[in-house]
Amino acid sequence: MGANSNASSEESFVKLPTIKFTKLFINGEFVDSVSGKTFETIDPRTGEVITRVAEGDKEDVDLAVKAARAAFDHGTWPRLPGIERRRIMMKFADLIDEHAEELAKLDTVDAGKLFSMGIAIDIPQAAQTFRYYAGAADKIHGNVLKMSTELQAYTLLEPVGVVGHIIPWNFPCGMLSFKVAPSLAAGCTMVIKPAEQTPLSALYLAHLAQLAGVPDGVINVVNGFGETAGAAVSYHMDIDKVSFTGSTDVGRLVMQAAAKSNLKSVSLELGGKSPLVIFDDADVDKAADLALLGILFNKGETCVASSRVLVQEGIHDELVKKLKEKAKYWTVGDPFDPNVRQGPQVCRQQFERVLTYIEHGKREGATLLTGGKPVGNKGYYIEPTVFTDVKDDMMIAKDEIFGPVMSVMKFKTIEEAIQRANNTKYGLAAGIVTKNIDIANTVSRSIRAGAIWINCYLAADNDAPFGGYKMSGFGKDMGMEGLHKYMHIKSVVTPIYNSPWL
Ligand code: NAD
Repeated sequence: MGANSNASSEESFVKLPTIKFTKLFINGEFVDSVSGKTFETIDPRTGEVITRVAEGDKEDVDLAVKAARAAFDHGTWPRLPGIERRRIMMKFADLIDEHAEELAKLDTVDAGKLFSMGIAIDIPQAAQTFRYYAGAADKIHGNVLKMSTELQAYTLLEPVGVVGHIIPWNFPCGMLSFKVAPSLAAGCTMVIKPAEQTPLSALYLAHLAQLAGVPDGVINVVNGFGETAGAAVSYHMDIDKVSFTGSTDVGRLVMQAAAKSNLKSVSLELGGKSPLVIFDDADVDKAADLALLGILFNKGETCVASSRVLVQEGIHDELVKKLKEKAKYWTVGDPFDPNVRQGPQVCRQQFERVLTYIEHGKREGATLLTGGKPVGNKGYYIEPTVFTDVKDDMMIAKDEIFGPVMSVMKFKTIEEAIQRANNTKYGLAAGIVTKNIDIANTVSRSIRAGAIWINCYLAADNDAPFGGYKMSGFGKDMGMEGLHKYMHIKSVVTPIYNSPWL
């Protein structure tokens, strides 16, 4: 184990969760998959099996879509007054809060997320996201149009229909709430495909939605693998929209599937390689804390992770020194331990991928400032890792690693900082650290990314639309944009008295 590490997967800090739901959730019932197959879900703290869950495939997705289609075409949910949908969603949010401990525990054993964060942030925020969109459910309306001829017209906003939600594993409850809450508020019905690494909390949430009064068939959950269940969702002829969060490579497949099937609309929240740009006038101590938070939060498994830290030459060496000192305090260990700040990577594949990138970094000539090794001999723990002297063309500077690996790069001028911050195929987020308002304004307008944090990082709110530029995808989650993507706009036109159209 490293100096900053006390991984102790033997020790249990809280009572482990009881696993209540392991089947598929279709039309209001927990059911086995048509094939009867199941798959293991693994605890990344130990590499051991937590339980087996039903493995959905094309036939199961068909059944789930049939249920969602019937609930949309003939059911109550899209036809309820918005205020009723709001009432049910508020109740759902309260139930999420009441079950926060259980949900947070499920995401800790399934994804290796810090239990302390889950209980304080992930789960309460998921409940708040349901409240935010519940508040919008009875305020959905179109516009009266000012036509240029003798016509009266207005727009209606209508739910898009049956939605397929494909969810990643890094924030299982959070990402689900980003998608399910606005689509419920809009009056859609849905099939949710959780990531195969983290199906447990999605099933628990489906149960809570039913308790809250969401009618059967509105929310369906099909666990399974991407190439089977996920592909069946993206190719399905009776799904009207797919909302996907995950890697850029799979996003491309989802788009192809939509093009090859029914031209369903697609929104893609994809990967990133986000820069944090620190200028000479920054408070070095605070900037170092921010840089470490930006990359190590959620063990680097954050799409907006500040994996490229660009530091102006005047404070570069001092900042590097601070990073080395402070990285020691990012204790790695059992995510149930309240003193731990970094848990295990989500699975063996991700663990090995991150370690391979660390080897690339060393081979390509970057300087390994700190970390770089696995922690312990059980589970998927990796030391907080910082490389300096990183060049823009190195793999560790170009590829999304999705782990606790920071690349530090030195720059001289604002122009150079902007050019290098934008020197990526991604455009998800960026951070700027400076006390100079002119620099902050200039750089924030010049970086092509969907979220810019000035003198902070990861500061998120339901009201702030979230999503990428360039190969980080398109279509926003959150904010009112996150609601409108689940609605069609219909124009209704009537001739008025004496209109030539009469
Ligand atoms: P992934 O793309 O491998 O998987 C995401 C989801 O897609 C999973 O549910 C998976 O089963 C499914 N999937 C896989 N293959 C599929 C296919 N052929 N057809 C349909 N679905 C398929 O990504 P991941 O490893 O789960 O998550 C990590 C990635 O997600 C990172 O790139 C990260 O940046 C990105 N991410 C982005 C955001 C964002 O908001 N932009 C948020 C979280 C994660």
